[in-house]
Amino acid sequence: MAENHISERRQFEDLLKRDGLEDLESRLAILDTFLSTEEHVTLKELSRMLKERGFKFDKEFIADTLQLFCQYGFAVKKEFQNQEARYEHRHIGKHHDHFICTMCGQIIEFYDPQLEALQLKIASNFGFHSLQHRMEIYGMCQKCMGKREPALPLAMTSPGERVKVVRFLGGHTMQARLASMGLNAGSEIEVLSNDGTGPCIVVSKGTRLALGRGVAHKILVSSIKHGTDMGRDRRTKRF
Ligand SMILES: [Zn+2]
Ligand SMILES: [Zn+2]
Ligand SMILES: [Zn+2]
Repeated sequence: MAENHISERRQFEDLLKRDGLEDLESRLAILDTFLSTEEHVTLKELSRMLKERGFKFDKEFIADTLQLFCQYGFAVKKEFQNQEARYEHRHIGKHHDHFICTMCGQIIEFYDPQLEALQLKIASNFGFHSLQHRMEIYGMCQKCMGKREPALPLAMTSPGERVKVVRFLGGHTMQARLASMGLNAGSEIEVLSNDGTGPCIVVSKGTRLALGRGVAHKILVSSIKHGTDMGRDRRTKRF
């Protein structure tokens, strides 16, 4: 067990004793299991890990103990978009932010001192005294990006994505109609909404266009890579 985890365990034990809470040994077993992973775990995942270790606690007890971890400052509950609540360690004096893959749900932690300093500077430019923040960047992890076809139908893109039109699968009539809307091979567009049922709303040259699903399946696009590759940036620490 890592040194900081040993001291957290001791502190938690002291706090439980001080407050006269029951089931000390069971709660410590849950803490040990929670500290044994650096993943951001859901209640379900933690329950499964405990079962694998031979413990038979009921879900309410585990949930109640997780609640205690949060209350005493040993865990933080995270509610990422479209995911079950997750819990992660809370280590004193350590802060990090998150990349969340909207395809596979993977969560990647990062910490960048320059970004942290910039956030404080921006806040102070607004005369705002910043106390804390959470930075969550949603997108696609390297693996999910790699699995994508070089060109995919517009219908399969995600809102917020910036893409370039590669080619059209439709006939001349469709292409002519799209061209009259300003959409040609090479056009750069931003996906505003694409919920998989209704029309796909995109922005092209500052104008919103509504494309039916049939049409959106016939427009092949490729992702526009932007910015520096944070993961490989020397100044950026990846956990
Ligand atoms: Zn931060
Ligand atoms: Zn992914
Ligand atoms: Zn985290």
